[in-house]
Amino acid sequence: MSKKIIIGNWKMNPINLKEAVKLFKNVAKSISHIKKTEIVVCPPFLYVSGLKNLSKKISLGAQNVFGENIPNGTGAFTGEVSGEMLYNIGVKYVIVGHSERRAMGESNADINKKIKSVLSVGLIPIICVGENLRDENHGYFNVVKTQLEECLNGVKKVLISKIIVAYEPVWAISSTVNRHDANPEDSREMAIFIRKVLVDKFDSEASSVRIIYGGSVNEKDALDFLQNGGVDGLLPGRASLDAIKFTEIIKICEASSK
Ligand code: PEP
Repeated sequence: MSKKIIIGNWKMNPINLKEAVKLFKNVAKSISHIKKTEIVVCPPFLYVSGLKNLSKKISLGAQNVFGENIPNGTGAFTGEVSGEMLYNIGVKYVIVGHSERRAMGESNADINKKIKSVLSVGLIPIICVGENLRDENHGYFNVVKTQLEECLNGVKKVLISKIIVAYEPVWAISSTVNRHDANPEDSREMAIFIRKVLVDKFDSEASSVRIIYGGSVNEKDALDFLQNGGVDGLLPGRASLDAIKFTEIIKICEASSK
């Protein structure tokens, strides 16, 4: 069985490499005893090389990737960063399909290409899904089902156990205007549903896929989500920018793991 996983999404923070190193080191120094929890930090691309040798306990993730699978991972694509480049610099995970990128126009078809390109170079995609709003008729289940089916279209069965699915209801994310809190029951019913969609599509190969929760999760509700949210880990955004809060979440996960 895979370890539980805590993934910090730093988004477009902090302002410079010095601050990034400080934050990263403050987390690293407090988690030397952690054994049962996998820890990932996803900084902006340009800080990866400055962070990569600072901790053996913390893996690095990217927040985006170029979606076309091109030979050698190089070419005339201004502003893009390929999966090969990320792999070569020491990145292990890539967040794909985050709602903040979907809001910039990224479609399920674009995300599908990114997932395939990430898997083809041996990186692990963290695929974000989640509805913008909850409607009374429970149409949000279909929203998430469509996201999963279209984003994973054509992904080989043998690779499916490598992926991580992050359920991130957009209405609970800290950057959402008029956001409100999700509770572990919301997470649990969606995690069960996500597992069913995956198993229907990929058979038992999907039974080991890690499903995690994100959406303003913090050190106060992390235990409740881990114990009652039906998930194998958490994806904090804002709380990952505070070394004390982020390490607290990691320690809570460690203490709750068997
Ligand atoms: C996120 O956007 O991935 C996220 C979970 O952010 P926050 O925890 O700040 O809501």
